[in-house]
Amino acid sequence: MACSNLGHTGVTYTGKEDLRETLYELCQSPTITSPTGGDNVAGYIDGTEFKFYKSDNLARPAVVNALLGKAKSNYATVYTNRADALWIKHYPKMKVKLMDQLKPTEGDGAVGVTLALQTVKKWPRQIAAIALKAPIPGGGLHAAAAGLSKDLDLPPGSRKKGLARALRYYMLATYSLVDISSAEAYEGLKNYVGALLVSDQGQILAAGINTGSFRHAEVSMLLSYFRNNPTATKVPENSVIFSTLTPCKGCTGFLSVTKSSNCVIYFGQEDTGKDGKVGKKISTQLSEKTKAPVGRSKEKLPGEIVPDDTEDTEGTGVVAMGTASEIHKVQVDKGLTSCMGTGSIATQIGKAKHAKEVLRSGSEALIHKMLRTRATDAESEVKHAVLTHIGQWLGTSRSVE
Ligand SMILES: [Zn+2]
Repeated sequence: MACSNLGHTGVTYTGKEDLRETLYELCQSPTITSPTGGDNVAGYIDGTEFKFYKSDNLARPAVVNALLGKAKSNYATVYTNRADALWIKHYPKMKVKLMDQLKPTEGDGAVGVTLALQTVKKWPRQIAAIALKAPIPGGGLHAAAAGLSKDLDLPPGSRKKGLARALRYYMLATYSLVDISSAEAYEGLKNYVGALLVSDQGQILAAGINTGSFRHAEVSMLLSYFRNNPTATKVPENSVIFSTLTPCKGCTGFLSVTKSSNCVIYFGQEDTGKDGKVGKKISTQLSEKTKAPVGRSKEKLPGEIVPDDTEDTEGTGVVAMGTASEIHKVQVDKGLTSCMGTGSIATQIGKAKHAKEVLRSGSEALIHKMLRTRATDAESEVKHAVLTHIGQWLGTSRSVE
């Protein structure tokens, strides 16, 4: 492991163990303590090394990489010099300590370590996607999202109606991420959640899935966005965020400080736990009135019904489907609820019968809908453009980098 000089007076670290200093001394180095020019630093002790990461943008702070790194290192405590890193303050249970609270001769501060700068070129676990042209010229998705509650009875054939419907399509696309989540999730993960960031013009900017620990879907989505937009500290103005579940307390914190002031956040299914109440302060459940017609009514669709207890076919690209008439009945939210039974949450698809089939049916139905839609008026023009965009995106989003 390459070692680095953090600017500690008079000492250049070469990685030799005899140059080991206490963690306290290392954390007093000017690079870490400087209130202005200092980098955001976070690290953890691994054996005789203090493995640390640097960042110059708090929207993608060092502590995130340190937390990801420590997962391989017996849940070591992570130390950081920036208490204002919003990414940690909402997670009091995580073992994160501030460097300036270390005592020189006590506890962790007295531990002798050498510095080992870790380099991470990109965030792991980003949903693969290609840059697709924004489908809605002139935008309007944000206005539709923001005004939906008071503007439900829209005239057929109107552009506004098309935009309102488009919101449901994006939510269906978000649900389709749950399938990736279940395929890519860390061992032991129980909740499968997806999140999507969409521009006012309908362009899918970033996607995220829950990969465990603090990397909830919304966090993954935000990190994915900041990874591709390294100078950004907030998501774009007029963007719309979709999450399959009410944001939890932690994600509500992250979203609150990284969303633009006028961002609209929609969730698909309510988390009835106490965390869900927190999330509802910044987000709204997508209205029933925007529900898109799902599936075709008569034709038999390709694929087979997978029996409830069969092994997953995830990752193969094979979509398990029921008949079209069954799919037609699937109103995605309600379908999920009936799959789960009363009181359980939709994201626990690992425990639920039929749930994956319903989710996959939802995303397949989107594509079928896309193929059937013809642009005959302003409403169908929007719908067709959005469905084409989502269909193309779905084709590229089945993997995680
Ligand atoms: Zn969360």
